[in-house]
Parts: sequence; C-alpha cells; structure tokens
Amino acid sequence: MDTETKSDWQERTTQQLVRYEALFKLLDDIQQTEDIQQISHRVAAHWKYFANVACWRMVIPHENGFRVIDGVRGAAHLAEVTTLHPWDAHHLAAQVPRKIDPADIRDGPLPPEHLEGKTIVEIQVLPFARLGQCLGLLTVAARRTPFNDLDTRFIRIFGSHFTERLTTIQLRQQAMEALLHKATRDALTGLLNRGTILEHLGKQLARARTEEQPLSVILADIDFFKIINDSHGHLAGDQVLWEVACRLRSHTLASDSLGRYGGEEFLFVLYPCTEDAAANTAEQFRRAIAELPITLSRDPAQDLGVTLSLGTSSTDGRSDVRLEELLKRADDALYRSKASGRNRVTTG
Ligand code: GH3
Ligand code: MG
Ligand code: MG
Repeated sequence: MDTETKSDWQERTTQQLVRYEALFKLLDDIQQTEDIQQISHRVAAHWKYFANVACWRMVIPHENGFRVIDGVRGAAHLAEVTTLHPWDAHHLAAQVPRKIDPADIRDGPLPPEHLEGKTIVEIQVLPFARLGQCLGLLTVAARRTPFNDLDTRFIRIFGSHFTERLTTIQLRQQAMEALLHKATRDALTGLLNRGTILEHLGKQLARARTEEQPLSVILADIDFFKIINDSHGHLAGDQVLWEVACRLRSHTLASDSLGRYGGEEFLFVLYPCTEDAAANTAEQFRRAIAELPITLSRDPAQDLGVTLSLGTSSTDGRSDVRLEELLKRADDALYRSKASGRNRVTTG
C-alpha cells in the first residue's frame, strides 16, 4: 500500500466512523423522546451528517389517515392527511423498494416537490412492513452523487428504526386517547360524564373569577321520562336519551361544555355568558327537542313527543359563588319549571 492510498483509506475509515457515530447518536436521540414532532426535527437536523440524504419524506399510516413528515434543509414539516400525494399512494400500494433515477421517470407519478430539483441524482423508496402490513414509507433523495452501498445500508437501518419508533409512539398515543375518551365520556350519549363536566365547571368558575367575566349553567331534564321507559321499553328510552344528546350537541359550538349530569339530566356550562344569553340558549335547547318528535327505530310508525324542563343560574364573575351554590340555584329553577307545567325555561 503506497502512502497516498494509505491516507485515502484512513480518510475513508475516519469518515465512516464519524457517520456511524452520528447514526448511533441519532438512534439514541429518537429513543429518548416520546414526541413525534421533536423526533422529526432531530432527524431532519442530523440526517445531513450521514448517508448523503438531501431531503426525505416519511409516511406513516394510522387509524384515520396518514402522518406525513417532510425533511428539507435541516427542518421537519409535519402534516396529518387523509388523501396521499400520488407518489406516496403509488409506492405505498406497491410496497416494493425502488431505486429511481429522477431524470428517467417515464411511468408512474412524479415525486413530491421538495424531492425534485436539478441537483437530485437518485431517489430511493423504502417501504417498511411487519406481518405484511406497511408501517411506513420512506423516500430519500441524494444530491450530486448517488447513494453508495454504505449509504444505502445506513438508510435502511435508520429508516427501519425511525418507522418502528414513530409507529410505537402513535399506537401508544391512540391507546391513551381511547382510554381518556372512555374515562371522560358517557358511553350511551358520548357526552362528557358527570365527573368530567363538574371538573370542567370548577375550572371555568375559577377562570370566571380571575377574568371577572359572567358564567352560566343550564340544567335540563327530560319530562316524564319514566313513562317513556314504561310504555316503550328501556331500549326506546336509551334511544330517546341518545337523540336528545345529539340535538343538544348540534345546538352548541362548545361540545366540551355539555355533559350527562344524571340519568336523564344534562348540564351545560357557558363561559363567558350572561344570565340573558343563558336563558336564550336554554330556550333554543327546549325548542330543539319539543319542536321535532323523536322517531323510535323499533316503532317507526309512532312519533314520540319529548320535552325538556330547564333551569339556569349565573354569576357575574365578581362575586365569590361556589360551584355547589350555582348548581343548587339551577336545580331549584329546574324544579320550578317542572312545577309550573314542564317544557319551559326558568332563570334561577
Ligand atoms: P319528571 O318529568 O318529573 O322529570 O319525570 P321523569 O319520569 O322524567 O323522572 P323520574 O326521575 O321519575 O324518572 C327518571 C327515569 O329515568 C327513571 C330511570 O329509570 C330512567 N333512567 C335513568 N337513566 C336511564 C338510562 O340510561 N336509560 C333509560 N332507558 N332510562 C334511564
Ligand atoms: Mg325527568
Ligand atoms: Mg331527573
């Protein structure tokens, strides 16, 4: 080995070691964080140190669509989409690794814009699958010189780790969301459950005091619901509850402020909202139920006239009203609506 060749060899070896080091550092980095955005930014910032990757795109399918991460000029851009770019759709369906000369794409879609350009000399598409299911699709573009063997191996190893990591985090997030949904929602109506709507009221009340803005609550109770159960059966009663909840929800922009307070009782927290505005909203709720009969799926021939009695109570945000007192006043107002004939709103 002459001296020049030896120094070339040393130079190459050093470069390889630097690349290995960068790769392992990046693998370590992505193991240590649980946040997909942070991971993506780290990958975008560090990937330039090895494997000649000029820009890249990772597509991860999930329950409701796809997560698309674009790496370009050391930064990551994240998006959630339901419809894929034709390039991604094509290669995701094919599930075959491809080495593509960008100057020679004759059939099939063109790559996404950030993977194009005069200096891009090679594109690799790598699907990562487990048990026949595609977990991720990685597209990487080489600038000026094509990927060499070592680059290609780096990209495979890293792409596979990246995909696994994102998929694991995504699955964990989905499981957490499902658990949270179960813990905070009422199973029959999908509204917030009693504990959660009361917690929400507590927080909004504290906020009203801090911001000195008015807050109101509405309590609504279905009239003669026991008779509906007794005459049409418990399942029909459930359907009425579900339908009432749907109508109330569709009459409010803030669905995270409406909860099932008890059996056939609903609690609505309005902030900021004055006493008059709350009475108006309650009247809209009353009409939304009373003006359109409910058709039972078990007995479509018979429309059911259902009504609500409602009670409201408010605080101006300046006085120190306790949550229990606010609810008691709304409950008393509701009782007065019942006592004076039902299907009406009373301001407490
Ligand atoms: P009022 O007009 O005075 O409110 O009379 P009501 O019949 O609506 O009130 P009452 O408290 O006498 O009856 C409420 C009924 O709601 C009794 C209970 O069995 C029924 N109920 C509570 N939760 C559910 C449920 O999840 N599904 C069904 N089908 N019925 C329920
Ligand atoms: Mg009732
Ligand atoms: Mg009741």
